[in-house]
Amino acid sequence: MTVSDASTFPRHQSLPSREHYPLVIIGSGAGGVSAARSYLDAAGPGPVLMVTEDIDPPYERPPLSKEVLSGEKEPTGDPVNGEGLPDGVELLLASSISAVDIEKQTVAAKSWSVEFDRLIVATGARSKSLHAAQEGAEIHLLRSLDDARTLVASARTAYTALVIGSGFIGCEAAASLAQRGLNVALVTPENGPQEQRLGAAASSRIKDWLEAVGVEVRTGRSVKSVAAPRVVQLDDGTSLNPDLILAAVGVTPGGTLLDNSPAEVRGGRIMTGQHLKAHATVWVAGDSALAQHGVAGRPIMVEHWGDALAMGEIAGHNAAVEQNAQKSWDSIPGFWSIIGDHTLKYSAWGDGFSTAEFRERPDGFVVWYGDERGELVGVLTYNSDDDYERGQHLLEQRAPLSHALK
Ligand SMILES: Cc1cc2nc3c(=O)[nH]c(=O)nc-3n(C[C@H](O)[C@H](O)[C@H](O)COP(=O)(O)OP(=O)(O)OC[C@H]3O[C@@H](n4cnc5c(N)ncnc54)[C@H](O)[C@@H]3O)c2cc1C
Repeated sequence: MTVSDASTFPRHQSLPSREHYPLVIIGSGAGGVSAARSYLDAAGPGPVLMVTEDIDPPYERPPLSKEVLSGEKEPTGDPVNGEGLPDGVELLLASSISAVDIEKQTVAAKSWSVEFDRLIVATGARSKSLHAAQEGAEIHLLRSLDDARTLVASARTAYTALVIGSGFIGCEAAASLAQRGLNVALVTPENGPQEQRLGAAASSRIKDWLEAVGVEVRTGRSVKSVAAPRVVQLDDGTSLNPDLILAAVGVTPGGTLLDNSPAEVRGGRIMTGQHLKAHATVWVAGDSALAQHGVAGRPIMVEHWGDALAMGEIAGHNAAVEQNAQKSWDSIPGFWSIIGDHTLKYSAWGDGFSTAEFRERPDGFVVWYGDERGELVGVLTYNSDDDYERGQHLLEQRAPLSHALK
């Protein structure tokens, strides 16, 4: 594959150069980039049009809440897997697709529309904004490189920060801001960071790690209001006035673009089969998909970088090849999260658990998650790679939780 430097594309090219493309990809995140690469690798006909709301050429998102926020790295954007887009991809930055007509095979932005033979939707997700924010309140969100640039610019002159939300991004960002030298508080309605997703025992470890880098963790607390510029009222009557506020309160998936189309959209995610196909000429990859998983045997949704890459690889390949050469999505989903100096590794179907079995390990731990039928549905490890690998293998086999506990 010949690779060109994505930065050589015109930064604000805003019009497609043709009226018809063999493939249009909406989104320039992990799913979109990986789809473009595999489509061309599988000899799909070009040119490919990639349309994105991002103002930057494709970049890696995971460092934004880690090294970029802690100050270890500048917010300049690492190319995805160290490479730009392949030749044959026309990239339109800062362009929003507002309508997709699957039957007529067209996509439209404000001032143009094009026809496609095939379409890949990789619209990811957007950060939710904070409901409690009043007009003029200065609240950062963190999804794009541009968000990270703005956030880092504020962090450079701030002494205190408030992070709202205790999901992975909230925890990573709070630890990174503290490592940068800010006094950081984290507020969450959960009883402990990520307690709902990972269980009480893992949550308690994460809380310890956050506190060890100086983050003040306030659990069981909600933000009632944020008045301009940054006056925060909590539900316990406390008032805070931080120099910087980051809301990390979840995401809204981007599959709604296909609402009112023949494709099925559930909770903002586009339903697909195992081949990631949503309709005769439409494939979906990444956070915007609710895709049938070859091993789980049910539709699952993932919000992970590596899985968006893997799904993009499948969607791009399948859009290029004949029906009898289609690939299935069957890799075990999961991700790593870095909170301060601690790396958590997590593999799971991601649709909940009913039991969580915590086990200490030398310098680390493992948590095995089971469902109500006693099947293993996830594994979380810290400094315990053997457990992580075994967990992935057991998930692949749909093994009972009891096998993991042996
Ligand atoms: C700060 C941060 C840190 C993260 N860290 C990790 C991590 O450590 N590990 C991990 O596994 N995951 C991590 N994630 C999650 C991971 O980044 C996502 O799961 C992944 O980016 C999903 O890829 P995607 O291609 O589906 O969507 P995205 O990467 O979100 O890309 C979606 C693209 O679609 C574009 N788009 C959306 N709507 C339109 C439209 N209407 N028209 C045109 N373009 C549109 C957007 O501009 C964007 O380019 C992190 C996320 C963030 C924000």
